[in-house]
Amino acid sequence: MSKQVSRHGILFVISAPSGAGKTTLVEALRQTSSLFYSVSCTTRAPRSGEIDGEDYQFLSDKDFRARVEAGDFLEHAQVHGDYYGTLRMPVLTNLNSGVDVLIDIDTQGATAIRNCDDPFIRKALSDIFIMPPDLEELRRRLLQRGTETAQQIELRLATAAREMELWRGYRYTIISGSVEEDLQKFRHIMEAESYLSRRLIQK
Ligand code: 5GP
Repeated sequence: MSKQVSRHGILFVISAPSGAGKTTLVEALRQTSSLFYSVSCTTRAPRSGEIDGEDYQFLSDKDFRARVEAGDFLEHAQVHGDYYGTLRMPVLTNLNSGVDVLIDIDTQGATAIRNCDDPFIRKALSDIFIMPPDLEELRRRLLQRGTETAQQIELRLATAAREMELWRGYRYTIISGSVEEDLQKFRHIMEAESYLSRRLIQK
Protein backbone atom coordinates (compact mmCIF):
# COMPACT_ATOMS: atom_id res chain seq x y z
CA MET A 1 0.00 0.00 0.00
CA SER A 2 1.23 3.45 -0.86
CA LYS A 3 2.13 5.71 2.04
CA GLN A 4 0.02 8.38 0.35
CA VAL A 5 -2.94 7.93 2.65
CA SER A 6 -5.03 10.42 4.55
CA ARG A 7 -8.36 10.31 6.30
CA HIS A 8 -11.37 12.45 7.11
CA GLY A 9 -11.92 13.49 10.71
CA ILE A 10 -13.58 11.18 13.20
CA LEU A 11 -16.79 12.35 14.85
CA PHE A 12 -16.44 11.37 18.52
CA VAL A 13 -19.82 11.48 20.19
CA ILE A 14 -19.76 11.23 23.96
CA SER A 15 -22.91 10.68 26.02
CA ALA A 16 -23.34 10.21 29.71
CA PRO A 17 -26.04 10.73 32.31
CA SER A 18 -25.57 13.99 34.26
CA GLY A 19 -23.01 13.67 36.98
CA ALA A 20 -21.21 10.71 35.40
CA GLY A 21 -18.05 12.81 35.44
CA LYS A 22 -18.39 13.68 31.78
CA THR A 23 -17.95 17.44 32.17
CA THR A 24 -14.52 17.03 33.76
CA LEU A 25 -13.59 14.45 31.16
CA VAL A 26 -14.73 16.70 28.31
CA GLU A 27 -12.81 19.64 29.81
CA ALA A 28 -9.66 17.52 29.85
CA LEU A 29 -10.28 16.36 26.27
CA ARG A 30 -10.74 19.95 25.16
CA GLN A 31 -7.07 20.49 25.95
CA THR A 32 -6.26 18.07 23.10
CA SER A 33 -5.11 20.41 20.35
CA SER A 34 -5.86 17.99 17.51
CA LEU A 35 -9.50 17.71 18.54
CA PHE A 36 -12.16 20.29 17.65
CA TYR A 37 -14.83 20.64 20.32
CA SER A 38 -18.21 21.54 18.91
CA VAL A 39 -19.94 24.06 21.20
CA SER A 40 -23.68 23.31 21.30
CA CYS A 41 -26.52 25.80 21.30
CA THR A 42 -29.00 25.70 24.17
CA THR A 43 -32.03 27.51 25.53
CA ARG A 44 -30.97 26.60 29.09
CA ALA A 45 -29.94 29.54 31.28
CA PRO A 46 -26.17 29.76 31.87
CA ARG A 47 -24.93 28.29 35.16
CA SER A 48 -22.67 30.48 37.19
CA GLY A 49 -19.22 30.60 35.62
CA GLU A 50 -20.42 29.41 32.22
CA ILE A 51 -19.28 31.52 29.29
CA ASP A 52 -21.38 32.18 26.19
CA GLY A 53 -19.67 30.77 23.12
CA GLU A 54 -17.34 28.61 25.18
CA ASP A 55 -19.59 26.31 27.21
CA TYR A 56 -22.65 26.78 25.06
CA GLN A 57 -24.08 29.29 22.68
CA PHE A 58 -26.98 30.45 24.86
CA LEU A 59 -30.02 31.25 22.73
CA SER A 60 -33.57 32.42 23.36
CA ASP A 61 -36.37 29.98 22.44
CA LYS A 62 -37.15 32.19 19.43
CA ASP A 63 -33.56 32.22 18.13
CA PHE A 64 -33.23 28.48 18.70
CA ARG A 65 -36.41 27.83 16.70
CA ALA A 66 -35.16 30.08 13.89
CA ARG A 67 -31.95 28.04 13.66
CA VAL A 68 -33.97 24.80 13.60
CA GLU A 69 -36.04 26.26 10.73
CA ALA A 70 -32.88 27.31 8.90
CA GLY A 71 -31.59 23.71 9.08
CA ASP A 72 -28.51 24.81 11.05
CA PHE A 73 -28.52 21.79 13.36
CA LEU A 74 -27.07 18.37 12.67
CA GLU A 75 -29.34 17.20 15.48
CA HIS A 76 -31.32 18.84 18.23
CA ALA A 77 -33.30 17.54 21.18
CA GLN A 78 -35.18 18.55 24.27
CA VAL A 79 -33.32 17.54 27.42
CA HIS A 80 -34.59 18.24 30.96
CA GLY A 81 -37.09 20.74 29.55
CA ASP A 82 -34.59 22.80 27.52
CA TYR A 83 -33.48 22.61 23.90
CA TYR A 84 -29.98 21.66 22.82
CA GLY A 85 -28.54 21.44 19.32
CA THR A 86 -25.32 20.65 17.47
CA LEU A 87 -24.39 23.11 14.73
CA ARG A 88 -23.89 21.37 11.41
CA MET A 89 -21.36 23.64 9.68
CA PRO A 90 -18.42 23.58 12.11
CA VAL A 91 -18.72 19.79 12.41
CA LEU A 92 -18.75 19.19 8.64
CA THR A 93 -16.01 21.70 7.88
CA ASN A 94 -13.63 20.13 10.38
CA LEU A 95 -14.38 16.52 9.43
CA ASN A 96 -13.85 17.38 5.77
CA SER A 97 -10.47 18.85 6.47
CA GLY A 98 -9.35 15.79 8.42
CA VAL A 99 -9.82 17.25 11.91
CA ASP A 100 -11.40 15.04 14.59
CA VAL A 101 -14.46 16.50 16.26
CA LEU A 102 -15.85 15.92 19.76
CA ILE A 103 -19.50 16.46 20.59
CA ASP A 104 -21.07 16.00 23.98
CA ILE A 105 -24.74 15.18 23.47
CA ASP A 106 -27.52 13.18 25.11
CA THR A 107 -28.71 9.74 24.03
CA GLN A 108 -31.46 11.17 21.76
CA GLY A 109 -28.86 13.22 19.90
CA ALA A 110 -26.56 10.20 19.54
CA THR A 111 -29.44 8.14 18.12
CA ALA A 112 -30.26 10.93 15.64
CA ILE A 113 -26.66 11.06 14.42
CA ARG A 114 -26.43 7.26 14.16
CA ASN A 115 -29.56 7.31 11.97
CA CYS A 116 -28.82 10.47 10.01
CA ASP A 117 -29.24 10.50 6.24
CA ASP A 118 -25.68 11.57 5.47
CA PRO A 119 -23.39 8.52 4.92
CA PHE A 120 -20.35 10.78 5.44
CA ILE A 121 -21.48 11.52 9.01
CA ARG A 122 -22.38 7.90 9.73
CA LYS A 123 -18.96 6.77 8.53
CA ALA A 124 -17.19 9.42 10.61
CA LEU A 125 -19.07 8.48 13.76
CA SER A 126 -17.51 6.81 16.77
CA ASP A 127 -19.86 6.89 19.75
CA ILE A 128 -18.85 6.40 23.36
CA PHE A 129 -21.06 5.99 26.41
CA ILE A 130 -19.78 6.93 29.85
CA MET A 131 -21.53 4.69 32.35
CA PRO A 132 -21.77 6.04 35.90
CA PRO A 133 -20.85 3.45 38.56
CA ASP A 134 -24.41 3.47 39.99
CA LEU A 135 -27.34 5.78 40.71
CA GLU A 136 -26.38 6.39 44.35
CA GLU A 137 -22.93 7.55 43.29
CA LEU A 138 -24.60 9.75 40.67
CA ARG A 139 -26.87 11.29 43.30
CA ARG A 140 -23.83 11.95 45.50
CA ARG A 141 -21.97 13.65 42.63
CA LEU A 142 -24.97 15.80 41.69
CA LEU A 143 -25.46 16.87 45.32
CA GLN A 144 -21.77 17.67 45.58
CA ARG A 145 -21.90 19.75 42.39
CA GLY A 146 -24.72 21.75 43.94
CA THR A 147 -25.88 23.42 40.72
CA GLU A 148 -29.38 21.90 40.69
CA THR A 149 -32.37 22.13 43.01
CA ALA A 150 -33.62 18.94 44.74
CA GLN A 151 -36.39 18.69 42.13
CA GLN A 152 -33.93 19.10 39.24
CA ILE A 153 -31.69 16.42 40.76
CA GLU A 154 -34.61 13.98 40.87
CA LEU A 155 -35.40 14.77 37.22
CA ARG A 156 -31.78 14.24 36.22
CA LEU A 157 -31.62 10.94 38.17
CA ALA A 158 -34.79 9.69 36.48
CA THR A 159 -33.32 10.61 33.06
CA ALA A 160 -30.03 8.98 34.07
CA ALA A 161 -31.76 5.71 35.01
CA ARG A 162 -33.41 5.67 31.56
CA GLU A 163 -30.22 6.63 29.75
CA MET A 164 -28.16 3.98 31.52
CA GLU A 165 -30.22 1.35 29.69
CA LEU A 166 -29.05 2.68 26.33
CA TRP A 167 -25.34 1.87 26.51
CA ARG A 168 -25.72 -1.10 24.14
CA GLY A 169 -26.42 1.25 21.23
CA TYR A 170 -22.92 2.77 21.50
CA ARG A 171 -19.79 1.35 19.91
CA TYR A 172 -17.87 1.82 23.19
CA THR A 173 -18.81 1.95 26.86
CA ILE A 174 -16.49 3.26 29.54
CA ILE A 175 -17.47 2.43 33.12
CA SER A 176 -16.63 5.68 34.83
CA GLY A 177 -13.80 5.58 37.36
CA SER A 178 -11.48 8.45 38.15
CA VAL A 179 -11.11 11.25 35.58
CA GLU A 180 -7.58 10.04 34.84
CA GLU A 181 -8.81 6.50 34.17
CA ASP A 182 -11.67 7.69 31.99
CA LEU A 183 -9.36 9.99 30.07
CA GLN A 184 -6.84 7.24 29.45
CA LYS A 185 -9.54 4.88 28.19
CA PHE A 186 -10.95 7.59 25.95
CA ARG A 187 -7.52 8.29 24.47
CA HIS A 188 -7.04 4.56 23.74
CA ILE A 189 -10.33 4.57 21.82
CA MET A 190 -9.31 7.69 19.89
CA GLU A 191 -6.04 6.12 18.91
CA ALA A 192 -7.50 2.79 17.82
CA GLU A 193 -10.22 4.55 15.81
CA SER A 194 -7.60 6.53 13.93
CA TYR A 195 -6.08 3.27 12.62
CA LEU A 196 -9.31 1.79 11.27
CA SER A 197 -8.60 0.72 7.68
CA ARG A 198 -12.00 1.83 6.50
CA ARG A 199 -11.22 5.41 7.48
CA LEU A 200 -8.21 5.64 5.23
CA ILE A 201 -8.31 7.30 1.85
CA GLN A 202 -5.61 6.35 -0.64
CA LYS A 203 -4.54 9.21 -2.87
P1 5GP B 1 -26.22 20.31 30.75
O1 5GP B 1 -27.45 21.15 30.85
O2 5GP B 1 -25.96 19.55 32.03
O3 5GP B 1 -25.03 21.06 30.26
O4 5GP B 1 -26.51 19.20 29.63
C1 5GP B 1 -27.64 18.39 29.76
C2 5GP B 1 -27.60 17.31 28.69
O5 5GP B 1 -27.71 17.88 27.39
C3 5GP B 1 -26.29 16.50 28.69
O6 5GP B 1 -26.64 15.13 28.61
C4 5GP B 1 -25.61 16.95 27.43
O7 5GP B 1 -24.82 15.91 26.86
C5 5GP B 1 -26.79 17.25 26.54
N1 5GP B 1 -26.43 18.12 25.41
C6 5GP B 1 -25.55 19.15 25.38
N2 5GP B 1 -25.48 19.68 24.15
C7 5GP B 1 -26.31 18.95 23.37
C8 5GP B 1 -26.65 18.98 21.97
O8 5GP B 1 -26.17 19.80 21.19
N3 5GP B 1 -27.56 18.06 21.55
C9 5GP B 1 -28.11 17.13 22.38
N4 5GP B 1 -28.96 16.26 21.85
N5 5GP B 1 -27.81 17.07 23.68
C10 5GP B 1 -26.92 17.95 24.17
